[in-house]
Amino acid sequence: MSKNLTKREEDYSKWYNELVVKADLAENSGVRGCMVIKPYGYAIWEKMQAELDRMFKETGHSNAYFPLFVPKSMFEAEEKNAEGFAKECAIVTHYRLTNDPDNKGKLIVDPKAKLEEELIVRPTSEAIIWSTYKGWVQSYRDLPLLINQWANVVRWEMRTRLFLRTAEFLWQEGHTAHATKVEAIEESERMMNVYADFVQNFMAIPVVKGLKTESERFAGAEETYCIEALMQDGKALQAGTSHFLGQNFAKAFDVKFANQEGKQEYVWGTSWGVSTRLMGALVMTHSDDNGLVLPPNLAPIQVVIVPIHKTDEQLKAISDQVDELVVSLRKLGISVKYDDRTTHKPGFKFAEWELKGVPLRIAIGPKDLENGTYEVARRDILTKEVVSKDGIENFIKNKLNQIQEELFNKAIDYRTEHTTEVNDFEEFKTVLESKGGFISAHWDGTSETEEKIKDLTKATIRCIPLDRVEEAGSCVFTGNPSVGRVLFAKAY
Ligand code: AMP
Repeated sequence: MSKNLTKREEDYSKWYNELVVKADLAENSGVRGCMVIKPYGYAIWEKMQAELDRMFKETGHSNAYFPLFVPKSMFEAEEKNAEGFAKECAIVTHYRLTNDPDNKGKLIVDPKAKLEEELIVRPTSEAIIWSTYKGWVQSYRDLPLLINQWANVVRWEMRTRLFLRTAEFLWQEGHTAHATKVEAIEESERMMNVYADFVQNFMAIPVVKGLKTESERFAGAEETYCIEALMQDGKALQAGTSHFLGQNFAKAFDVKFANQEGKQEYVWGTSWGVSTRLMGALVMTHSDDNGLVLPPNLAPIQVVIVPIHKTDEQLKAISDQVDELVVSLRKLGISVKYDDRTTHKPGFKFAEWELKGVPLRIAIGPKDLENGTYEVARRDILTKEVVSKDGIENFIKNKLNQIQEELFNKAIDYRTEHTTEVNDFEEFKTVLESKGGFISAHWDGTSETEEKIKDLTKATIRCIPLDRVEEAGSCVFTGNPSVGRVLFAKAY
């Protein structure tokens, strides 16, 4: 197996693209901006889905499915949302092809098969879902409505990157309806917290919880909560969003309910989503120049066992012992693969599993059989130790927990080192160019200033952290009064 990965220091972006392809996560397809997610990458996504789905259900949500297409008039109903997504919509105008009379064997769009009304391929599903909710909500007894859907959406992105930004992506989108404003705000905060919990505890990626500024807010939302993560190249990544929609969609789609006094009121809404972008966050947070580093919670294979042998007898003796080990590891809920391929040498297998980020590798040879030992290697810090066969199961289980925790701590340390408080604009630019990361600075609260800083530096306000301390100061750019610091960064 030849790895030949570009080093992160040389070209981070190239390293990322190569790694995603070489580790068999995904590849570009023949369709612009759309990727093929390969089985190994999809297995990781499935693990994310399973855990998120469990968390959504635990917080009272049910799954449903709504159509891929949204009639244009329906899409237009919530004006701000429509305007916000208008520039990146794919539109179906016809429903049939026909033989090209001038070019045998070719097909053309049948002009006779023009749709009466164009269909938008959903870039997000508020419109179709709220038009449905109108029929589902009549009284306060029908609320809250707590629905999630797992789906694909299409946003005609101009500059695409595997996982991070694709024209079609997989995601989940929660859409909820509530009787009161307070409940809807609680729900948007709850789901931001679910995301933060998942990304931190399951993916071992630290995040900052915050609010988006007006210019970065979801089109049609009153408030957008987000979780922001920092990648190893010092750029930020929006890892998830949760929107408080106010009554905007209820008004656009006339979704009303009779309250306890029998009076008609518009319902309050939220929506929230995370996408296959999280796969990109995973790669960019933990991996290194040797390949993927997967936190044990997300690794499709947590332990790989490689036999070291010269003769068939040796392999047989090793395999007999490994069969038992596999059974006992699986009993502990550990996913394990015995790589007994005779078509490849151990060195090749080591390199392959290293590239694919399997957290622990157990090598076992004739000497180990004699001594009652295994050689256990950690992918994340590339250490090896010889461990007694007795009690190996618990050793492995504890080691996996330890790796999960240490990966998170390492990422926290990186973020701490790359978060800088800055008080003047020259320093702002210097820090941004020299080490990147989050810059914590005062801002005067205006979109104009935000825009100017973006034009001059490419840095945007990632969020107004929810836990920021109120602190009177002066804006890093205009010197005007500010009530607290916000986080700036260049972002994906
Ligand atoms: P939004 O509906 O814009 O709030 O986005 C919901 C989630 O999808 C966020 O976590 C985004 O980071 C993610 N997302 C937005 N656009 C893309 C894209 N083109 N590719 C992958 N993920 C995306």
